[in-house]
Amino acid sequence: MSIPALTPFPAVVIGGGISGLACAYRLQQAGIPVLLLDAGSRCGGVISTREIDGFRFELGPQSFLSTEPLLKLIEGLGLNDELLRADSRAPRYILLGGKLIPAPLAPPSLLTTRLLGPRTKWRLFTEIFRRTHPPAADESIASFVRRKFGDELLDRLVAPFVSGIYAGDPERLSLRAAFPKLHEFEAKYGSILRGAMKSRPAKGAPRSGLCSFRDGMETLPRALGARLGDTLQTETTVAEVRRGKTNGKSWFELDVTYQDHHETLTASAVIVAAPADAASEILKGVSKTFAAPFARIDYAPVAVVAAGYRRDHVRHAGNGFGFLVPRSEGLHILGTVWNSSLFPGRAPEEMACFTSFAGGATDPELCELSEDEIAETACGEVEQVLGITGKPVTRMVHCHARALPQYNLGHSETVSALAAATSSVPGLFLTGNYLSGPAIGACVEQSNQTADAARIYLASIGVAGVGAVAHA
Ligand SMILES: Cc1cc2nc3c(=O)[nH]c(=O)nc-3n(C[C@H](O)[C@H](O)[C@H](O)COP(=O)(O)OP(=O)(O)OC[C@H]3O[C@@H](n4cnc5c(N)ncnc54)[C@H](O)[C@@H]3O)c2cc1C
Repeated sequence: MSIPALTPFPAVVIGGGISGLACAYRLQQAGIPVLLLDAGSRCGGVISTREIDGFRFELGPQSFLSTEPLLKLIEGLGLNDELLRADSRAPRYILLGGKLIPAPLAPPSLLTTRLLGPRTKWRLFTEIFRRTHPPAADESIASFVRRKFGDELLDRLVAPFVSGIYAGDPERLSLRAAFPKLHEFEAKYGSILRGAMKSRPAKGAPRSGLCSFRDGMETLPRALGARLGDTLQTETTVAEVRRGKTNGKSWFELDVTYQDHHETLTASAVIVAAPADAASEILKGVSKTFAAPFARIDYAPVAVVAAGYRRDHVRHAGNGFGFLVPRSEGLHILGTVWNSSLFPGRAPEEMACFTSFAGGATDPELCELSEDEIAETACGEVEQVLGITGKPVTRMVHCHARALPQYNLGHSETVSALAAATSSVPGLFLTGNYLSGPAIGACVEQSNQTADAARIYLASIGVAGVGAVAHA
């Protein structure tokens, strides 16, 4: 480990997933000497692209939504030429009675879809005339959808989409925390449809779409890591942070382990970008107030199974984004992405590849099986749905024991408690996917804001070279 000898170090970021990388890069861009420490052997956290037998598999996120802060970051890194945009008309399917039915992606197709019966369609289209108010208590997504539209919409559309984002259980996920816009629409306009119409983007405004990179999702963390250079130290675990104060100035001490080597660093500002359980452990020496809210954040396990097949063995055309599976279909897979149809360069000629997700909050036991058992289960189910006659030519499995934070009932209060605990420790900041959305775009936006707050703090305590002007 070659940590630059700055004492105290102006800013140390703990955790080099996309949240910590984006935060450290923004600080570096603002001219602030920063150190990014990650426990893994490479940066990127759950973002992981693997190449095998001519296939390019994603063992974490498959794509990202092109939000403005993310596109700005990509442009700043000179990655515009690497960017791939998926066809926005690529159909998504829902499995119903063992058959793939196109999911309605726009309001007119809600009228004609075979997924919903006339009663649900009627409730959807007349919702604008039935003003309602959200209950005072935090409401689950399931309860909200049942109250407004009924069970059919919940089972066939909403629950599968929710599992596609959170791998979560709609009976436990909080509408206010997981989909704040929907909660706001009902509170403000009494109707989701009215709210959606009122907040429609202006004509001509850029629309976000699904993207990846020519060489896969890991392109982004690799580029950030390259820009950060020696600022990024991998295989470096932070065990604990403590507070210190001399002559009225606060600083932090960090116990750091690199392989078998232990060291104590000092920093003026610390940004914790590790997952909630690790953050809780790291911060127990700073204040006892962090433990309880962190302990309330559950994570869902997710198994990712990527498999390549001979194209002529796949009966279904496989053109589109992929399919989602309602729990009532009785399968283990939550959904499958058709990577080779979505982006070029994912499979060799005459081959196709698919990535399935299984487990999640509604089937966590699946992730306790062996990797072979998980692969057999997931591939068997995909083969049945897509009418695949041969076995995979290659496959890869990765189990994320703690894949995605669950924005369950009470999550907004948990985040407020963490904000209160953090604000009572000057110089300490939190960022990560458990705060304002798990999507990569949300992580980048959250981390930009955190970096800006850290920069303003450093300027306020007079750390040399740090100006007070907020980052553009
Ligand atoms: C299977 C899966 C599929 C997904 N699909 C999508 C998708 O299609 N689109 C999308 O937008 N999002 C998707 N997401 C969500 C998104 O990828 C994540 O929310 C996001 O990448 C998390 O980034 P992060 O930096 O907050 O956390 P992480 O990626 O978990 O990074 C945390 C980092 O902290 C480090 N760390 C932990 N403890 C310590 C310590 N003590 N000291 C030092 N370092 C430590 C770890 O090594 C790790 O690198 C998916 C997530 C998963 C798991």
